[in-house]
Amino acid sequence: LHISASVGISIISESLLQPEKLLQQADMAMYKAKQQGRDAYELYSCDLDEHLSKRVNLRNDLQDAINRDQLFLEYQPLVDTDGHLCGLEALVRWHHPDKGRISPAEFIPVAEETGQIIQIGRWVLQQACKDAKRLMKEGLLQGRMAVNLSPMQFHRPNFLASLRQVLDEEDLPASYLELELTEGILMRDTEGAIDILNALTGMGVSTAIDDFGTGFSSFSYLRELPVRKVKIDKSFVDDIADCAKDASVCKGIIGLARELELSVVAEGVETQSQFDYLRRNGCEVFQGYFFARPMPFEKLMPWIELQAPSLEEM
Ligand code: C2E
Ligand code: MG
Ligand code: MG
Repeated sequence: LHISASVGISIISESLLQPEKLLQQADMAMYKAKQQGRDAYELYSCDLDEHLSKRVNLRNDLQDAINRDQLFLEYQPLVDTDGHLCGLEALVRWHHPDKGRISPAEFIPVAEETGQIIQIGRWVLQQACKDAKRLMKEGLLQGRMAVNLSPMQFHRPNFLASLRQVLDEEDLPASYLELELTEGILMRDTEGAIDILNALTGMGVSTAIDDFGTGFSSFSYLRELPVRKVKIDKSFVDDIADCAKDASVCKGIIGLARELELSVVAEGVETQSQFDYLRRNGCEVFQGYFFARPMPFEKLMPWIELQAPSLEEM
């Protein structure tokens, strides 16, 4: 048994003579100490209060949004070297009644902290499969529907069973689904992760490593993992034109992926020159505003029907 102490400290001042308040503040400071890896102490400060109450508000608002069906999905197309549709990524959206749009980059981390991600993740998976099925029926689904997964979802004991259930309920063949995982998910308990990845492959569900290059990338683990695809993070693609180092990173990832017979996608392609560089260096799939922004399902259908001729000349 290993015991450590996390200590929160609040200091009595003339303006603070209520014991309850003092304890409350020390408590907040203690949670911060725990968050920072435990076995530490932390002093209460006003910032801490503000930060925490912002989080608590976001959490409560998010719960309302879940209960009232205020979350929705947008879909961003992935295209091949000829600009033809070859896949879609589902991205969750939240339109807050007062604050307007809140980015998933802001609320997903909160949902991960509070556990709300389980409910959100299941809903996203269900809705994305439902929409994929609709596209499939219309003959408009080219490639797979990709869904982002959080570490907490992936490592839950009933993850595979609940995935199977969603596919059955929505009657979507597993060969139309892809799951995007981050390096972090795979680094934690790599052995366990490999078992789950193998089970997914066995089911016919494909997997991709998202934001590749930003985590603790170890090339040796790439060789071991039964994944099919890597997605080069947007941050490397951004500066291809004016940063030789970023251009080399992209080129290197593409080369490595091809050697390992993985498919490689460049994320966040915004310009013709980025597209040209990546294509010239062997990248085969692209995603970014240059081709299409994420869009709601109602706009996606007409986009797919129209896209082929307009991108032909790129
Ligand atoms: P991601 O999975 O790497 O998704 C790509 C992000 O890049 C999306 O941002 C997309 O809108 C944006 N993007 C695509 N092309 C371009 C471009 O050309 N330029 C620029 N500036 N941006 C581009 P978004 O939708 O804000 O999502 C951010 C992150 O939130 C996602 O990164 C993903 O990690 C997470 N996320 C989104 N939806 C879900 C979800 O349903 N579940 C989970 N667990 N995470 C999600
Ligand atoms: Mg993604
Ligand atoms: Mg990404």
